[in-house]
Parts: sequence; structure tokens; C-alpha cells
Amino acid sequence: MVTVKDFRIYAETQDPDLQNAIKILAKRYNKDMGSQALTIVDQPEDSNSRIRFVRGLHNDGHKLGLGKWITTKKQQSTLTLKGEKNTETVAYAMEIEFDQENFETKLAALENSGSDEAQHLYHLFCHEIGHGLQMEHSPEHANVMYPTIPDKPIRYVDYKAYFSRARSFLSKSH
Ligand SMILES: [Zn+2]
Repeated sequence: MVTVKDFRIYAETQDPDLQNAIKILAKRYNKDMGSQALTIVDQPEDSNSRIRFVRGLHNDGHKLGLGKWITTKKQQSTLTLKGEKNTETVAYAMEIEFDQENFETKLAALENSGSDEAQHLYHLFCHEIGHGLQMEHSPEHANVMYPTIPDKPIRYVDYKAYFSRARSFLSKSH
């Protein structure tokens, strides 16, 4: 079995500010990960994963984002002189949704990575990408996967533990 964990994400929006915001967040994410875990692509046909912005997502139980993971299996058989060889390729992808208004009201401050808004959006981004990397919610307050993301950085967030988990997921073949 061949496993592909190459996340090529297309941000489905016509708004250049939102597209730029996703690029800034993904760049910071890759830097913290220490590798090119996420690639933001400009064309939908180059992508296997999507980020969408939805108005009023928070009206449904005050949700700021949603993240889910997808795997697709492909069987490939190759005929060689020694016979038939079957290879199964499992490709991992993700689908993320963000509440558009929450993003729009905060993205002006995104360039200043220390601002409350930037910290909130990065926390939210890491959380939903975490779901895309098959992480479940955690009951621990410091965990990035704790179910709520505060507007202001009122609690300590353990990014170190998060990225070590994310690295381990990306390096495993299942
Ligand atoms: Zn969640």
C-alpha cells in the first residue's frame, strides 16, 4: 500500500484578502511544522483539498469552523514480466469551512502575528487543519483540539504538543 499525505489546498473564494489570509496562515503552519505540510494552490484542478468560507456558520451552535478528513483509495495493477502487481494507493485530503464574518473582521490584523486577531485565526486554522489530519477534540484546555477557540488569547495553547502529533501523523504510512 502506498500512502499519500500531500495536502494541496484551494481556498474557494474570489476575495483576494481571504486568499492572502490563508496563504499567511499556511506559511506560519508549515514553519511551525518544519516542513511543507500544506500547499496552497491557485487553481482548483491542482488541489485535493478545499477551504470554504461560509456566511453564518456560527449561527449553527456558534461554529467558527469545521474540518473533516477524507481518504480515497485507488487500485492500480501493473503487468510485468513476472506477473501482475497490484498497488493500492490511499490519498489523504481535507475539507475545511470557516465562518466568513469571523475571518473578515480579523484578517486586517493578520500580518501582526502577535495581535489577538492573528492568534485567534491561527489557533482556529490549526484546530480545523487538525481535524483534517484526523485529530479528535481534546478535553484539555491547553490542547489546540479543545472544542472552543477564544477571541482573545486568554489561555495557554500547547502548539508544541500539537505539532509533534501532526508530524507523527504525517510521517506514518497509515
Ligand atoms: Zn473542532
